[in-house]
Amino acid sequence: MFRTHTCGELRLTDNGKEVTLSGWVQRIRDKGSLLWIDLRDRYGITQLMLEEGVSSDELLAQARQLGREYVIRVTGRVSERSSKNPQLPTGDIEVILSSIQLLNASKTPPFTIEDKTDGGDELRMKYRYLDLRRNPLRQNLALRHRLAMETRNYLDREGFFEIETPYLIKSTPEGARDFVVPSRMNPGEFYALPQSPQTFKQILMVAGYDRYFQIVRCFRDEDLRADRQPEFTQIDCEMSFVTQEDVLRTFEGMARFLFQKVKNIEVGPFERMDYATAMKLYGSDKPDLRFGMPFVEITDLVKDSGFGVFDQAELVVGIKAEGCSDFTRKQLDALTDFVRKPQIGAKGLVYVRYQADGSLKSSVDKFYNEERLRSWAQRFDARPGDLMLILSGPANATRKQLNELRLEMGNQLGLRDPQKFKPLWVTDFPLLEWDDETQRFYAMHHPFTSPKPEDIPLLETNPGQVRANAYDMVINGVEVGGGSIRIHDRELQKKMFGLLGFSDQEAQNQFGFLMNAFEYGAPPHGGIALGFDRLTALIAGYDSIRDFIAFPKNNAGRDMMIDSPSAIAPQQLDELALKIVQKLQ
Ligand code: ASP
Repeated sequence: MFRTHTCGELRLTDNGKEVTLSGWVQRIRDKGSLLWIDLRDRYGITQLMLEEGVSSDELLAQARQLGREYVIRVTGRVSERSSKNPQLPTGDIEVILSSIQLLNASKTPPFTIEDKTDGGDELRMKYRYLDLRRNPLRQNLALRHRLAMETRNYLDREGFFEIETPYLIKSTPEGARDFVVPSRMNPGEFYALPQSPQTFKQILMVAGYDRYFQIVRCFRDEDLRADRQPEFTQIDCEMSFVTQEDVLRTFEGMARFLFQKVKNIEVGPFERMDYATAMKLYGSDKPDLRFGMPFVEITDLVKDSGFGVFDQAELVVGIKAEGCSDFTRKQLDALTDFVRKPQIGAKGLVYVRYQADGSLKSSVDKFYNEERLRSWAQRFDARPGDLMLILSGPANATRKQLNELRLEMGNQLGLRDPQKFKPLWVTDFPLLEWDDETQRFYAMHHPFTSPKPEDIPLLETNPGQVRANAYDMVINGVEVGGGSIRIHDRELQKKMFGLLGFSDQEAQNQFGFLMNAFEYGAPPHGGIALGFDRLTALIAGYDSIRDFIAFPKNNAGRDMMIDSPSAIAPQQLDELALKIVQKLQ
């Protein structure tokens, strides 16, 4: 028998019991006359004890041979500790050993297996099995497991079927780049790994399955930005005979259920905001609503003063930082440097201090007298003690810059508490996005998204203005997921492909299967997909998803543990009818 109990289980009520435990040696403290071993498994840590004179010399000698991460089985008697450790669930007891059996030795690990490890990222990824032994990662994966289980519980209760869709599918040019897999049986032909099961879930609706979900891996060969994984997991869902309202209600319900179950938090009903409002008030389609600071536009109040920057600007817009009028020159210079960073790209920052004595001082006093500044302050609804931070320039770019500044101010003022959750739905996204470079429209969500019925006439006259029945779930400024009501009419779908620059032939080649399915009674349908890695990280209060995935890839898309991607044997290449023309080093 390897164990009677786990290492996280014993309590004072077990005092006096003979027990057997198995686990890894976390730490040995040898005080000469007394020797302690912390024994660890997935469930916790139990302190083991040996005492000179009480324990046999042989046993003590055996214990002194052990090293960190050795795997042992021990037997002993549970005993009340004289100095208890309230931090540890097993901290009231220790086990006085009568035998130790070595099950396996271990090399000295390259970093410490502690909550705060000394290992760098790359090293931890190379030895992921050691990293995964650490508490924080174990807790992350436990949370992930719980969320997956509760997601299944909720969706099952709501009548959803969990159905698997294939991983070897067909490459489509839309969206991100595909990962492709050569087919040995069909030389020169390739499968693609799915960027999402989108078309399959829609076909399941045509097949009459009514409500589908899958916790599913998706693959996107995008240029890797920080904290993007080439493979990631979605909670993917689709429903038939629903309006947008039904979808929002179902998944708002799910998110609230998950917060309740795993965090014991009632996040309350979600706020709703349409895309146009989100962009106007926050310069972002995923506003962080844990704090206010909405944008205030003053373009009409600043003209004809001789201040060329404002005179020429399409948009002059700012935020009000309450109680910040005493920001020092140094702080304001730092904010100016912040908005001037190339990633943000503003030319400069104008500020107005509404001083405690009621007077107004600005960085543009040369051009604006106090009376004019007061009209700005009025628009901002500012009070003595407040600070106004103002940017100007082309409307879209300026809003994006101010969004960054708003978030930075939120950080500086401690308004973005990771344990506070503020969810919202952003709705009415534009259907299409114009790309100057390729001179064509792209689907903002994907080509299967339905336009708002009242906007359909605009498809002919002003496609850029058409709004979609598309929505995003946003929590704390993070896009947790998105979806839409789909097109279920073959003709409309055809028109959409046309707008996206597909010839009839191309549309038929790429999506013929879906168009054909639509000829056999496609029900009205819609759905959503939530990023499962991101949702888990967010609920845990973290930004980065990497430590919520058991075996993630690094920022260069490499799996450091198995050292992949890697070359394959010439024989494999031959079998696949592939030839490496050039290997870039
Ligand atoms: N398939 C979409 C995505 O991955 C989500 C959806 O529309 O349901 O973003």
